[in-house]
Amino acid sequence: MHQIYYIESNQLETLFQKLKKSYKVFSPVAKGPNYTAKADYSYKGLAEGESPVFNPYRAVEPLKSFFTYAQDQAAEYFNRDEPVLDSMQVIVFGVKSCDIAGHKVQDFVFLEGVEVDSLYRLRRDNTILISGDCTDFKDVCHCLAWDILPHPTEGFDLNFSPLNDGYLVEVGSKKGEGLIQQYQEYFTPAKETQIAGRRVKRENLIERLKRHLLPQKLVSKDSVQRLMREGYNLDTWQQFMLTCVECGGCNLICNTCHCFLLADKKEGNINKKVKVWDSCQYANFTRVAGGANPLKTRTQRLRNRFLKKFDFFVDNLGMPACCGCGRCIEVCPGKIDIREVLKDVAKKLSASK
Ligand code: SF4
Ligand code: SF4
Repeated sequence: MHQIYYIESNQLETLFQKLKKSYKVFSPVAKGPNYTAKADYSYKGLAEGESPVFNPYRAVEPLKSFFTYAQDQAAEYFNRDEPVLDSMQVIVFGVKSCDIAGHKVQDFVFLEGVEVDSLYRLRRDNTILISGDCTDFKDVCHCLAWDILPHPTEGFDLNFSPLNDGYLVEVGSKKGEGLIQQYQEYFTPAKETQIAGRRVKRENLIERLKRHLLPQKLVSKDSVQRLMREGYNLDTWQQFMLTCVECGGCNLICNTCHCFLLADKKEGNINKKVKVWDSCQYANFTRVAGGANPLKTRTQRLRNRFLKKFDFFVDNLGMPACCGCGRCIEVCPGKIDIREVLKDVAKKLSASK
């Protein structure tokens, strides 16, 4: 087991004021009540004197937005042939388990492919992820359906679990251990009773989430690849695409979606290559220079989105490219619910047997 420490809330405040001198610290802030009467949380760079907020569930923005920006400058040419690199040291506080699990997809694409994305690598190296247990969930959350627990077990540098008047702090990496060593006066080794308290809180939340998800009868992680392959010709794709307005919101907000477009941009005498987030739901997503487009219809594009997430990524990475964060459900103006699409495929396939 990783090492676990305890820090009191007021000590955490002091620690964060210190950290802000060396790092750009981002923390979720409440955005006000939404349709579920629960606040949304949005990341903000903390200013002098501001304290981090412990968010009960994931923020509006996906974790990927710290590593690939909606628009990045990939290169300036012919003046310079190196990408513009930023060396800001960043701490992201309040990351949740779904985002950490889903981020494996981003790492796979940008670090383990045929080429390493140097800007992504640099930002990854310069970022410390301080995650936190979920203490609540949104209606759209369905991490457990993909076997992702509402508290992270790996992939974090430090993980915070609220307990009484403080937090249990679990070390998940060398970077995390380094922070603890540097600021050891704030931390004490956790007691067995405190770790037992964390276990109870975690189990209670898992039980609540199970009770929330059970009536939804969601498809399971093990069956999803078969559903995609057998359901290729179902009318599900035509049926659900009817309300799609091709805004791309589902892809852009998704923590696992990673497609980008390289474009040229001229600014004064400088020619830039910019890299922008792309969406497989856009009509021109697969259009090539000669005009051919293998994903001409919205039906094909919606199916492609699901095939990539639930078939191709299971082959490539051994996991679906979905972490159950539910962001795509909240953002879609066409009210296309990823859970319902999968359930429709499962229902139609079982009816045809
Ligand atoms: S968010 Fe909804 S309407 Fe927009 S592209 Fe995605 S599926 Fe279509
Ligand atoms: S597909 Fe939807 S639920 Fe799954 S990770 Fe992306 S935004 Fe979250």
